[in-house]
Amino acid sequence: LRRQKVSPEILIEGILKGDKVSLSRAITLIESTNPEHQNKANTIINACLPYANKSVRVGITGVPGVGKSTFIEAFGLYLTGLGKKVAVLAIDPSSSISRGSILGDKTRMEDLVKDTNAYIRPSASGESLGGVSRKTRESIILCEACGFDTILIETVGVGQSETAVHSMVDFFLLLNLAGAGDELQGIKRGIMEMADAVVINKADGDNLAKARNAKLDVNRALHLFPVKPSGWQPKVVLASAFYKTGIENVWEMITDYLQLTTENSYLETHRREQNQYWMMETINEQLLQKFYNNSDVIALLNENKKAVQKNEKSPFAAAFEILAFYENKNKEI
Ligand code: GDP
Repeated sequence: LRRQKVSPEILIEGILKGDKVSLSRAITLIESTNPEHQNKANTIINACLPYANKSVRVGITGVPGVGKSTFIEAFGLYLTGLGKKVAVLAIDPSSSISRGSILGDKTRMEDLVKDTNAYIRPSASGESLGGVSRKTRESIILCEACGFDTILIETVGVGQSETAVHSMVDFFLLLNLAGAGDELQGIKRGIMEMADAVVINKADGDNLAKARNAKLDVNRALHLFPVKPSGWQPKVVLASAFYKTGIENVWEMITDYLQLTTENSYLETHRREQNQYWMMETINEQLLQKFYNNSDVIALLNENKKAVQKNEKSPFAAAFEILAFYENKNKEI
C-alpha cells in the first residue's frame, strides 16, 4: 500500500476525518523535492487552509540535554489528558549539516507516541533551514485541518532556527537549566528576548534550590528587555519534566497569554503578520533556489569565482555580470 499512488483528494478526505496516516503521507509530499509531489502537496494545503488556523501554536527551544523531549512528552500527555489533540513537529536543520541530528533518533517520547490523541513528526532532513521551516509551516496547516488543536514545535536552541520557529508560533517557550550561576550562558541573548516564558527545567532534588535562585536571575534579565508588542510580560516557571511537576503551570500561563492576546487582538494581528512573513520568505527561498540551481548560472559562477580569486575582476563587477546574465536569460523565456 505504501508505494501505491494516492490522489490528493483521498488524502484530503482522510486528513479532514482526522486520519493520521493520511496526514503523514501528505507531509511526506510536502517534504518531497519532486515537482509532481509538490503540486499534489499544494493542492492538499489549499484544500486544508479553510480548516486551519484553529490551534494554539507553541514553540519550544533549548540547548541539547536541557530536557526538551522529556518536557514535550510530559506536557503533551498532560494536554491529551485535558482532552486536547497534540501534534509535535520538529525543526532540526542540524540533520542537514551533520549527518546525525541534534534532536536525535533516540527513542523519544515513548508514551506520547502511543497516545491516539497525539501525533509526532520528526523534522525533514537534508534540507536548508529555509526549506525545513517552510515545510514545517505548511505541515502546521495540515495538522490543524486534521483536528490537532495544540501544535508544539520543537527546535534546538543553538542556531538560527529559533527565529524561524518564532515566526510560526503564538507562544515561544525557552527551556533553561539552573547552572552554577551560568543560567544565561549558552543561550543567546536574542533567544531569551524572543521568549514569552522561560521554563527552568530539572527543578527537582538537589537542583531545586539552585533552580529557585535561577528563577530570580532570569526574571531580572527578562525585565530588562523592552515591553513586547503583545503586551505580555514574559514569565519564569520552574518545572521538572522528569517528575512531571510545574507542567500544569506552564499550560495555565499559556492560557493566560491567549486570553490577554485575544482580548487585545494581538493574536490575530500577529498571525496575519506571520502569514505575510511566510509569503516573503517563500518568494526569497524560491528565487534563490531557481537562481542557484540554474546550470548556466552555476557555470558562470564558477568561472567568476576563479576570476575574483585571482584578482582579475572585482567581486561587484562579477556579481553584477552574473545577475545581468540571469535577468537577460529570463527575458528570453
Ligand atoms: P533534549 O536533548 O533537550 O531533548 O533533552 P532530553 O529530554 O533528552 O533530556 C536529557 C536528559 O535529561 C535525559 O537523561 C533526561 O532523563 C534528563 N531530564 C530531562 N528532564 C529532566 C528533569 O526534569 N529532571 C531531571 N532530573 N532530569 C531530567
